[in-house]
Amino acid sequence: MADLRGIAWVNGKITSLEDAQVPFLDRGYFFGDGVYEAIKVTGGKLFALEEHLERFERSMKEIRIPAPKTKAEFSAIIRECVEKAEIPDAMVYLQVTRGVGPRMHAFLPKAEPMVTLFVSPMSDVAEVVRKAGVTCVTVADERWAHPHIKTLNLLPNVLAKQTAEEQGAYEAIFIRGEEPGGGLVTEASSSNVVAVVDGQVVTPPTNGSILPGVTRAIMIETAREAGIPVIERDLTLEELRRAEEIMVTNTGAEVLGVRELDGIPVGKGETGPITQKLYEVFMEGFAKRLS
Ligand code: PLP
Repeated sequence: MADLRGIAWVNGKITSLEDAQVPFLDRGYFFGDGVYEAIKVTGGKLFALEEHLERFERSMKEIRIPAPKTKAEFSAIIRECVEKAEIPDAMVYLQVTRGVGPRMHAFLPKAEPMVTLFVSPMSDVAEVVRKAGVTCVTVADERWAHPHIKTLNLLPNVLAKQTAEEQGAYEAIFIRGEEPGGGLVTEASSSNVVAVVDGQVVTPPTNGSILPGVTRAIMIETAREAGIPVIERDLTLEELRRAEEIMVTNTGAEVLGVRELDGIPVGKGETGPITQKLYEVFMEGFAKRLS
């Protein structure tokens, strides 16, 4: 049985995660009509809370959900729940949907946005995995045209991650456009992608084709502070296939090395030295961004 420890907050009511319930007519259920954030908690402290809440506000604005609370109010609720949950290493999941009402496609004239949140355990990547690196497969990027918005419409991401799992891989990397050579790397099912190509650290730009990851942004900042330039430009599938190193970034795994792509070793087939360095400088910056 999956670990269901944790607490939930549903429009103001706190329950155990297992007992949390939302109304059947919530538009999140029928249409995926909502946005979300996932925030890491380490030792009871939140990582990059402000950055997450800023992206959350942007996401709501993009899909025209009136923000039901200010950032300060969301922040207070999150802190209250983290304290009540008493799980030092956890994830906070925060979601807003357009609300509850009769099932019709267009916005409901009177619906109140529905806020839900939960705190549940999330452990760090094991040291042995971090050293060895993970495996990835490539899949066609068949997502909608606005993947820069962190919406609940994750069906293509779910299918991609399942494809990865069925091949024993950690992540699925999305490729847009046709092969050979023409395909562009966008991101992975729940991570951003970074590669070391001809000695340069390259990551696809935030041009609307990827989710602007909080981990990605802080990784770029901490790398630059450490004197390692990160180039934001288009990355082709051909470059990814011959990259010296590949890494994925996300809230749960931070900066994680990829040892194999589509069954072929990347570099020496383990977490590479530049990945290790980028992880280390990221973790120095991590401690400074806990609150
Ligand atoms: N890309 C996608 C599609 C994601 O879903 C996520 C996180 O869930 C990321 C990238 C990484 O974003 P972050 O670093 O903010 O967790």
